[in-house]
Amino acid sequence: MAKVILRKKRDASVHRRHPWIFSNSVHRVEGVEQRGETVQIYSADGASLGAGAWSPASQIRVRIWSFEADATIDADFFRERLMQSLRFREALRRAPAISAYRLVNAESDGLPGIIVDRYGEYLVCQFLSAGAEYWKEEIVRQLTELLPVEGIYERSDGENRAREGLSPVSGVLWGREPPDTVEIQEGKLRYLADLRKGHKTGFYLDQRENRAMIPEFSAGADVLNCFAYTGGFGLWALQGGAGSLTNVDTSADALALARRNIDRNGLDSQRVENISADVFQLLRKFRDADRKFDLIVLDPPKFAGSAGQVKRAARGYKDINLLAMKLLRPGGTLFTFSCSGHIDPPLFQKIVAGAALDAGADVRIIRFLSQGADHPVALPFPEGLYLKGLVCRVG
Ligand code: SAH
Repeated sequence: MAKVILRKKRDASVHRRHPWIFSNSVHRVEGVEQRGETVQIYSADGASLGAGAWSPASQIRVRIWSFEADATIDADFFRERLMQSLRFREALRRAPAISAYRLVNAESDGLPGIIVDRYGEYLVCQFLSAGAEYWKEEIVRQLTELLPVEGIYERSDGENRAREGLSPVSGVLWGREPPDTVEIQEGKLRYLADLRKGHKTGFYLDQRENRAMIPEFSAGADVLNCFAYTGGFGLWALQGGAGSLTNVDTSADALALARRNIDRNGLDSQRVENISADVFQLLRKFRDADRKFDLIVLDPPKFAGSAGQVKRAARGYKDINLLAMKLLRPGGTLFTFSCSGHIDPPLFQKIVAGAALDAGADVRIIRFLSQGADHPVALPFPEGLYLKGLVCRVG
């Protein structure tokens, strides 16, 4: 069995059950032949700490599968972990009105590098680490036995794989290929999602619980939905009786799907304007034109992809929040988000506070939001928290 022996005093994070071992903690490696294969982990004084996946190209040299000293990583191991993930989501799986949700959330479900999202009859998977790639076939086999689905599709096309020395890949893993769009249900609403080419695995499942809060603030409101994608937040605003809705996104394709989603739900498209534009520029245009709104959603893409980008990202968040606060009528509501893992909740709040100060706005936080319960954060793995949001009452 291949072995990884840690340097002296580098076992503390493993004892805290953090699943990553960085390259600078590794003292010696024995008998490793293949990327992704299982290694037994030992401290400098020879104590067995568990088993993980070897990733020679990555700074995260080992991702830990199990903290048990005598763990065997095999088909049964993965079956058990997958069953745990399913049990954890039992309530969601039984909810008749929710057909799309995350089934496996990587490190936080004890399956580093592995994402499984369910979209009705289809599963969409991401295998983002060397270990995940190594066990891919087995995991797909177990999924087909555990869940009666029509097809399993791979979207391992994110940027993370490069850091693991893996190239991007997507395609059918099992069964039928998903059609161009798949209908999913989110409470009272239905969405079309493009599982093969859409963002992430097709839809922003992590925002489901936050979208559902929108109707409470929408009755009669003029709503501006920035970074709208396929209209997620906007649909809920219409559902809540918005007087008007303006969706903004740079992607014309996403907005076209937003349009179809509105029609599909029988909502009034007369009240909707879809603008394909850059939010930074459009907010300035609206400011200059003195346009006003009652509810604004800011759900931008990840501005900080690394620790080095935090400063620049902070300027971006401040800019859009400041402009949004100026566009709100007194008593208006701002839903503002950041999905940059490198910006933690206190920093995000500080950025929004800075924006309010410069906007001369009197702002109160009325809700603190995060990613949905199907995207849990394992306590020893704070890196799992990436989405944070604030609902603010302005003026
Ligand atoms: N709120 C959406 C998810 C938003 S994802 C939902 O709940 O489903 C972020 C979106 O921002 C993407 O659709 C992307 O196309 C868009 N985007 C990225 N940069 C942009 C910019 N500068 N201006 C407008 N849209 C942008």
